Amino acid sequence: MARKTPDDLSNRSRQSRANNEKLFKSLNQQVETVTEPLFKAEERRSVPVEFYCECSNRECVERVSLPIDEYRAVHRDPNCFLVKPGHDQRDIENVVQQTPRYWVVRKHEDVR
Ligand SMILES: [Zn+2]
Repeated sequence: MARKTPDDLSNRSRQSRANNEKLFKSLNQQVETVTEPLFKAEERRSVPVEFYCECSNRECVERVSLPIDEYRAVHRDPNCFLVKPGHDQRDIENVVQQTPRYWVVRKHEDVR
């Protein structure tokens, strides 16, 4: 078997890391769907719900808590993901918003 060049490896792992973010985002969308009807409008704006960190690290099982309405605002752009502060990876995404509890990253075009 031919040895992979470092370039092949890093390309593959960039895409596979990006796919991991999509997986956790879809998990969070299920959390949102299940939780949403249990909350009144006011609670959707104010009561934090535990979502999974949507970072690219397959091993990461950390949680990020924020109100449902805020979670939705983050995902108005389908290329944006919710991560714990510092869980961004600059080779596949840019940080577009920083709050004390979470950061929002936007994925580079070639790994969407
Ligand atoms: Zn993470």
